[in-house]
Amino acid sequence: MGFFIREDPLTGDRRIIASVRSRRPHLIRDLVREEPLQCPFCPGNETLTPRELIAVEGKSGWLVRVIPNKFPAIPHMHDVIVDSPLHEDDIDTISHLEDLLKVYQQRMVYYYNKRVKYVAVFRNRGREAGASIPHPHSQVLALPFHPNRFLKEKERYKVQRKDILGEFLEKELQLQERVFTASTNFVVLMAYAPVVPYELWIVPKVKVNSFVSETRLDELADLLRNSVSTLKEFFGKGLSYNITFQSAPPWDRDYRYYIRILPRVSTFGGFELETENIIVSVAPEEAIMELRTLKYSRRTDIK
Ligand SMILES: [Zn+2]
Repeated sequence: MGFFIREDPLTGDRRIIASVRSRRPHLIRDLVREEPLQCPFCPGNETLTPRELIAVEGKSGWLVRVIPNKFPAIPHMHDVIVDSPLHEDDIDTISHLEDLLKVYQQRMVYYYNKRVKYVAVFRNRGREAGASIPHPHSQVLALPFHPNRFLKEKERYKVQRKDILGEFLEKELQLQERVFTASTNFVVLMAYAPVVPYELWIVPKVKVNSFVSETRLDELADLLRNSVSTLKEFFGKGLSYNITFQSAPPWDRDYRYYIRILPRVSTFGGFELETENIIVSVAPEEAIMELRTLKYSRRTDIK
């Protein structure tokens, strides 16, 4: 239980954390199995989509396909990436996850070479997360302007003249109040001022400005797998969630990229629309305890 107001260290946005047990997100029912027969992203149905721009080939057919979005937010600037040939796959089960991350980088480089202002890379899973097709896919959308969140982060970076995320991470590592796990080069932590309950951030320990320059993709793939599988174990396999890649263009050195995993277990109402401030119903410190307990019980299960 608790009530407090928190400021996102990177943007300055204020959030209300109103941790009330009765408003906790509940376990989620399993995904309703939808017939993959007419799924445009399943192997054999390639003619239902526009011609592919790139494909990663495996031993028996493609593993990843990049196609132009049929309903682009901005024409010629919006890709759909079919993450896997398997209709039921997800981040925690995709065996070629490292290759998929490489494809994200390739598409970012492609658009940044055209000197667009920003390339958004994101993944929607499940209806509540905005996915209209259940087959696992990601999107890349190049923008002719800097998005709001990035602008706010840059402004703060400029005013404070420092790597805010780096300093924040150091503090988080000392406190250990919200750290979920750490590997050689990355830390996974519960967001300090989340937008949704159980929001996780993956942050590189040493500053890397753009995801384009990230070389430790195998390590990152493991952390993504592990984080998503823990959230799904906690909420249920049918969990809707988003993954976003908060990254600067390669030429902008004053930034530290990070990845967010956002379970869509809450909805926004009139308050959020009126104020553009968000009420979050679970404190990050309580959320992390629950995930840690899960991790611990899983370990003892193995013994
Ligand atoms: Zn499919």
